[in-house]
Amino acid sequence: MYKGIGASAGIGIGKVVVIKEKSLDYKKETITDAEAEKKRLSEAIEVFIDKTTKMVEAMKVTAGEQESEILEGHILMIQDPAIKEQIDAKIDDEKINAEAAVEEACDFFAQIFAMAEDELTQQRASDLGDIKTRLIKILLGIEEVDISAVPEGTVLVAEDLTPSMTAGINPANVEGVLTEIGGKTSHSAIICRSMEIPAVLSVENIVSIVKDGDVVVLDGATGEAYVNPEDSVLEDYKAKKAAYLEEKAALSKFIGQASQTADGHVVELVANIGGPDEAAKVVECDGEGVGLFRTEFLFMDRDSVPTEEEQFKAYKTVAETLEGKPVIIRTLDIGGDKALPYLGLETEENPFLGFRAVRFCLKRPDIYRPQLRALLRASAFGKIRIMVPLVTCVDELRAVKALLEEIKGELDAEGIAYNKDVEVGVMMETAAASLIADILAKEADFFSIGTNDLTGYTMAADRGNSDVAYLYSAYNPAVLRSIKNIIGAANAEGIMAGMCGEAASDPLLVPVLLAFGLNEFSVSATAILATRKVMSLWTMDEAKALAEEVMQLTTEAEVKALLEERSRS
Ligand code: PEP
Ligand code: MG
Repeated sequence: MYKGIGASAGIGIGKVVVIKEKSLDYKKETITDAEAEKKRLSEAIEVFIDKTTKMVEAMKVTAGEQESEILEGHILMIQDPAIKEQIDAKIDDEKINAEAAVEEACDFFAQIFAMAEDELTQQRASDLGDIKTRLIKILLGIEEVDISAVPEGTVLVAEDLTPSMTAGINPANVEGVLTEIGGKTSHSAIICRSMEIPAVLSVENIVSIVKDGDVVVLDGATGEAYVNPEDSVLEDYKAKKAAYLEEKAALSKFIGQASQTADGHVVELVANIGGPDEAAKVVECDGEGVGLFRTEFLFMDRDSVPTEEEQFKAYKTVAETLEGKPVIIRTLDIGGDKALPYLGLETEENPFLGFRAVRFCLKRPDIYRPQLRALLRASAFGKIRIMVPLVTCVDELRAVKALLEEIKGELDAEGIAYNKDVEVGVMMETAAASLIADILAKEADFFSIGTNDLTGYTMAADRGNSDVAYLYSAYNPAVLRSIKNIIGAANAEGIMAGMCGEAASDPLLVPVLLAFGLNEFSVSATAILATRKVMSLWTMDEAKALAEEVMQLTTEAEVKALLEERSRS
């Protein structure tokens, strides 16, 4: 079994087609006829634009308008006079062949883009790499790998899938994707998810492990893949795939339905996202808003803090994509297991009990203020709510609110619009917050329970430590009592009680959470319909009876066994 990052859910079973980049061997040569060389270049650019335009059209159908814009950007870049002039100048002045001129000029601009502060400009550096390779291939007369022509039942295996490669994919023929590079937020992952192709990325050396025609099975949710599996594994995966597809088809009838119990008790069913690119998927999966935008992802995979402007754009995009539906944006939750190496923070002995989240932010106004300013500015474009992570005492909530008031004053003075009534809520994920839920509920506009951390902090068990994994379970009576207490406190003050930890989409727990009075469930986009279905299988009276029974039990194992016995699907 090979393990990578599950980047696009679903089961893929098929035969391998390895996409190997042909080497772009050419010699840097001195030319005599610069005009002829420039003509060759212009013709190649025309072919490039023609091919790319066709790819854009195909991609609009297969992956959607938004994804095709990446490639449309390639056409605009190659038409940028600055780039074309630089290539021409190299041919004219240095008398080098077009291939070398393209390479040197593209590398030159890519280096400049790579040094930029903002992520979008940095991304243009990798786009330029893609443009360079394709343009040189055209000049050399090398046919691009025609992914659109792979036979039905193909599993594509490549070192990486560039945007131009993914553009050619016909989802009807591609069963799955395996790559050596990439993670959940890479272009290839986003595109695979939008085409609903199961994908496992970052599988070490997979290109050298497989050969064309090998049979591969993969699970895009768990990140597992087998090459030429035994019959039993193959049969197992066939059954998994059939079940997955059946389940998916059955769930489509919940699109457009209210999120409610069998007797009509309505709650909000929203989604967790890690970046602006995921907002469209929430809408597509019929999410009623965003219940958690983990903004720390905007700060990762780069070497500097994103500017206020970059953050503003990201938050505004999400608010606008959700068209007035609620969008809860959590302020930076860095520390613990999420490091930002470029900040050069000292290594802590107990990072989960240390300089994390709101503790860090309140000590670093240079980083926190721009984020809060960006959030307030973006609040003019939709229904943004601000959420503070890892709160343990009411002082922290007060400090954030005071900072927000100061920034509001600045924005007023500058004449910048924002929502004056923007709500500020608390992420309920520490034992302390749970114990003072009644105090916090008086000053917070909403709660969202982070069961991932709440379980860890309540049970004093690290979520990543397998030796204590038996303790890390939300079915523990201690965790359930904590959840019940938090929801009760929110209900008593009339504020929203939400949940954005993984427990919100646990089908076994959904009826119990409904019974406790949870008003908002925030789950991953792909879990929305399944969660809506589970809700529809219970009346409130049935859920309350189950919750009452559950709360009488004394061990995690008893709770789990009862919930399994009573589970409905
Ligand atoms: C949580 O702790 O439950 C949560 C949703 O936040 P994260 O997983 O990002 O810590
Ligand atoms: Mg958390």
